[in-house]
Amino acid sequence: MTNCFILLAAGKGKRFKSNNPKQFINYINKPLFMHSVDKAIKSKLFKLIVIVSNTPIKNIKDKSIKVIKGGRERYQSSQKALNFIKNMKFTNVFIHDAARPNFSIKLLKKLNSNLKKYKAVVPYLTTNNSTKYKIKNKIQNLNRENLLLTQTPQCFNYKTLFNLSNLNNTKITDEATLFLDNNKKVKFIKGEENNFKITTKTDLKKIIVKNFYGIGFDIHRLIKNKKLYLGGIKIPFHSGLQGHSDGDVIIHAIIDGLLGAMRKKDIGTLYPSNKSRFKNIRSPNMLSPILKKIKDEGYFINNIDINLICERPKVSKYRDKIIVSLSNLLNVNENQINLKGKTVEKLGLIGKEEAIACEVIVSLNRYA
Ligand code: ZN
Repeated sequence: MTNCFILLAAGKGKRFKSNNPKQFINYINKPLFMHSVDKAIKSKLFKLIVIVSNTPIKNIKDKSIKVIKGGRERYQSSQKALNFIKNMKFTNVFIHDAARPNFSIKLLKKLNSNLKKYKAVVPYLTTNNSTKYKIKNKIQNLNRENLLLTQTPQCFNYKTLFNLSNLNNTKITDEATLFLDNNKKVKFIKGEENNFKITTKTDLKKIIVKNFYGIGFDIHRLIKNKKLYLGGIKIPFHSGLQGHSDGDVIIHAIIDGLLGAMRKKDIGTLYPSNKSRFKNIRSPNMLSPILKKIKDEGYFINNIDINLICERPKVSKYRDKIIVSLSNLLNVNENQINLKGKTVEKLGLIGKEEAIACEVIVSLNRYA
């Protein structure tokens, strides 16, 4: 069985009141529609993802993603996508509205497993509201227990849907309508409350974001004849930080904070100091596997707060440069990073300018 995921992103979103169609607004570091694309990829259920859009989409390098132009109405966009994959021998097709970024991969898998038995599988919700139904000017009571509110993604046997879709030329709001109108069986499964459709700007506030926090600490001894690196930049000073790497305490503490927030152990586990291949490694290079983990697991950096603990150099003199450097290295905005300098009243090793320490708290967010 091979599956294709069709993402309908051609809607105009009149109720959203923005120049940018809602499916393209930047939400949690990426366009809204990309949340659905990334989940489809992560589920590993699909050989191809077709995005139907009337707005040009650039920068898609993944070969398993195709972008095609949509129609005026939703059903026409869906029809175009089904025709586009006509000769690709897909057994099943999933159709999803880009304005619903909140479905879970678990739901995709549940839909998929039901496809073994059924030709149409559709998620639905019930309602707690009392319901009425208006026919012309008469309003009648409706038993809410008999009411099904359908969502997407919906999935279907490709051939059956293709035939039904090509026969249709009326406005419909989902593909389940075609099956029901033609007296074909639909398997309804429980949908997800969180998988609501983003129609207005206030809907965006309903999106659940989970927060994760991590703490990092590092200290290195200062030694002569070594360059001092802090936050990825070279700082003129009488000594540099001793260590296996360039001893950049800021970056090391940030790495530990990030690993902590992701619950992925610590910098020492990732870069054992007895491994010669890490000898003299520049700390900015140590960040790349961490940033990859952040991206792969769907996290994004919310903010980073840094205490650099040293008598000298004066943090105020280098603050802006260090923040610019870190924002480039971590690919975040400068206003997401704060750097504070803290002296130690000339106490101990740090007070005698024989060591520099750093502590960091980071917060990561992840789309629930
Ligand atoms: Zn270190």
